[in-house]
Amino acid sequence: MSALTTILETCSECQTCVNECPFLSKLGMTPKRIAEDLMSGVDPTKVYPMSCFLCGLCRSVCPFSLDIPSMILQARSELSSTWGMINACHRLFLADDPVFIMDIYRRQKGISYEGMVKENFNYAFLPGCAMLCFSPKATAKLYDMLSRRLGEVGLVELCCGKPLYDLGLVERAASWISKLEEYLKKSGCRSIVTACPNCYYHLKSMFGGRIEVLTVYDVVGDELKGRVKGLKVTIHDSCPDRFEGLFAKHVRSLLSECEVIEMKHSKKRSLCCGAGGLVSCIDPSLPAVLSGNRVEEALETGADVMVVYCYSCASLFWGSQPTVNVKHILDLALDTEDESEAVKRGELSQVIMKVMSEQM
Ligand code: SF4
Ligand code: SF4
Repeated sequence: MSALTTILETCSECQTCVNECPFLSKLGMTPKRIAEDLMSGVDPTKVYPMSCFLCGLCRSVCPFSLDIPSMILQARSELSSTWGMINACHRLFLADDPVFIMDIYRRQKGISYEGMVKENFNYAFLPGCAMLCFSPKATAKLYDMLSRRLGEVGLVELCCGKPLYDLGLVERAASWISKLEEYLKKSGCRSIVTACPNCYYHLKSMFGGRIEVLTVYDVVGDELKGRVKGLKVTIHDSCPDRFEGLFAKHVRSLLSECEVIEMKHSKKRSLCCGAGGLVSCIDPSLPAVLSGNRVEEALETGADVMVVYCYSCASLFWGSQPTVNVKHILDLALDTEDESEAVKRGELSQVIMKVMSEQM
């Protein structure tokens, strides 16, 4: 049975998810009403599925665990593939597009990983696009640690392709994964080690066990443990980790010598930072509401720093909430300087604006 049909039959319209979610409350519809609306067909007059963050909070609070993100993804797929509802901003985040902003940003900033990108390797270190852009120093340090531990490691500067999938471009997402798999197998790669929760869950699901996917914490977590001491911190959990909680557990273990104060919404019930689902390309006001809500909860804890474990979350907070102290766990543990000041100065936004204006 499709997610839409299950929601249609099961949703009791209890409003629990609506009260938790700024997208649903702004839309003023329960998932059952959305299912009824989408049942009658998806067309360009119904663009609201593009404003869902795909964060999964609705599913985690729903008494029936209804899979609203899957219903939304199906609608997005029709909007993108059938109706071509991909705008100039979306294109910037699509790995197979010549205007893919993460590659352009690295080139413009002169960030290079020469010497770490190899032709043959057993293990691929795939930090994730955001880490490659926003923490080159942590990337290089981790590469060295992984190489000492695993032997032949090759750094992979490629995107996992999740934004293609999230926008509903299912065929392009599958084709990107095939190319990535072909490249990895040709290089002799047996396993991928990633630092990014988005990459980790997306690649695990797309590879379906054909290539092993590990987190950096699985491999060098023991070396990173105990390096961060004496801080009063709160932890922003990432949406893709919501149900398995693997990164959440690793990161709390790395912070065992700190005072950790949990926010009202954490782990399974974490709030999205506002970067999910590329909503900013459709409705820039909603991500600002989400990051504002998140930071408000962080400040209520009285913690000195909000620790994140996804560089997309980090860059979103640096850009939208520049006065709040947000650090990635890897920069804390490796004592590396991140690119937060550049993001706060608007360097990423400037690159985005320039590429957008060239497209017009
Ligand atoms: S996935 Fe997130 S943004 Fe979308 S409906 Fe659920 S809670 Fe709201
Ligand atoms: S929490 Fe579940 S049952 Fe309640 S309105 Fe949302 S989807 Fe429907």
